[in-house]
Amino acid sequence: MGNTRVLTHEFEYLPTTSVPEAIQLLNEHGRNATIMAGGTDVIPQLKYSVIAPALLIDISKIPDLDYIKDQEGHLKIGASAKLRRVEQFCGQNRKYACLYDALFSIGKVQVMNMGTLAGNLCTASPAADSAPALLVLGGRVKLVGREGERIVDLNDYFTGPRKTVKAHDELMTEIIVPPVKEGMGGAFTKMARVGSDISKITCAVAVERQNEHCGECKVAMGAVAPTPVRLTAIEKMLTNKTIDENVLDEAKNQIAAYIQPLTDVRSTEAYRKQIAGILFKDTFQKAWKRAGGEE
Ligand SMILES: Cc1cc2nc3c(=O)[nH]c(=O)nc-3n(C[C@H](O)[C@H](O)[C@H](O)COP(=O)(O)OP(=O)(O)OC[C@H]3O[C@@H](n4cnc5c(N)ncnc54)[C@H](O)[C@@H]3O)c2cc1C
Repeated sequence: MGNTRVLTHEFEYLPTTSVPEAIQLLNEHGRNATIMAGGTDVIPQLKYSVIAPALLIDISKIPDLDYIKDQEGHLKIGASAKLRRVEQFCGQNRKYACLYDALFSIGKVQVMNMGTLAGNLCTASPAADSAPALLVLGGRVKLVGREGERIVDLNDYFTGPRKTVKAHDELMTEIIVPPVKEGMGGAFTKMARVGSDISKITCAVAVERQNEHCGECKVAMGAVAPTPVRLTAIEKMLTNKTIDENVLDEAKNQIAAYIQPLTDVRSTEAYRKQIAGILFKDTFQKAWKRAGGEE
């Protein structure tokens, strides 16, 4: 079954212009309705008949959701802001370098111009590039439903492959990145079969540096477990330590024990386990240099 097939089943298409309208439609139509933002995941799923909704609710034209703003140090990204705009914003703000790296790694022009950060988090692939970067940045998402809104920490958001705590009738309206401390540096690295492919494995690090002393340290990986994951045991090995080759190699050698990768079309369990430590060390060193203003 190829990806060039036409859409084989009929559905109603409804562009919405407001959040309340989208939520009302979701409630009226329940599981017969699917939200679409950029459509870069939804359209292939329709073509492959992975989904067959009776109603497609297009939220990409909701003007109230198309924003990227800094509000008292909190970065707020609306659910219909395109990936390209978020990438450009992060590229101009060193404190978001790791999210910039992650979005830059997606690369494909069409996906960057159509896709959204919210769509990436709602699809909730274990390999979603934005997820490890947002996890180490302490990201949260705003979910709005009939009962009101709630803010969910990304540490509590992913529950399984393509599964999250978001209810079907909830809309993700905003991604929030809390203020980034002075002295923090971040980086994201992706290994893929070819440039701009979905990842074999990814790593994000955010680290606080005072000379050679490591303060706070956050490490997350993608495509190594059923969900994007924080590696808290590795973080503890580095937090409040003097960083040298020995400390880093100790952490690098431990990583494979804390991940559960699969073998799939992109890579094998064995390769992912073998490469995880190396990817971590490279990413840490990049984040460390950035935290020290060396890059
Ligand atoms: C050729 C190609 C290459 C790709 N490469 C990459 C890559 O390198 N890295 C990567 O991570 N991804 C990649 N993707 C996947 C995809 O582009 C991203 O996941 C993108 O961010 C999805 O955003 P979207 O706005 O297009 O989502 P959509 O397709 O519109 O929606 C995705 C899912 O989220 C739901 N949804 C969307 N927005 C909301 C919302 N606000 N509230 C509630 N539910 C919502 C939809 O119902 C759907 O289930 C690729 C896709 C394609 C087709």
